[in-house]
Amino acid sequence: MSRQSHSKTQDDVYTFVRRVAGHQGWELNQDPEFLDDLVSGLRQNYARYGYFLCPCRDGTGERHKDRDIICPCVYNVPDQREYGHCFCALFLDRRFAASGKRPQPIPERRPESLFE
Ligand code: SF4
Repeated sequence: MSRQSHSKTQDDVYTFVRRVAGHQGWELNQDPEFLDDLVSGLRQNYARYGYFLCPCRDGTGERHKDRDIICPCVYNVPDQREYGHCFCALFLDRRFAASGKRPQPIPERRPESLFE
């Protein structure tokens, strides 16, 4: 696959995250600048790796090793249930978003054994 085919625009990535949130019944982070930074991170990771590696974690660049942290990651739902939002605070639980609370740093749920 060529580099060219790995490029996505910022709008493409916004479309992706809005679709995921809409489909799953989640909200996006309501801070426009913070959201834009996360979307940029996803876009850069897509350009670099060819998949939406989590924008706030380090991956290996090998899809099969990173598969649990390809957005939306497997830790997203339990983190939303426990804390109201995912590790990066890109996706928010609807009730959490409606509460007006601000996302806070949360513990990394990914097992250390999966870190390279
Ligand atoms: S923590 Fe959030 S932004 Fe990162 S991969 Fe999981 S769902 Fe996506």
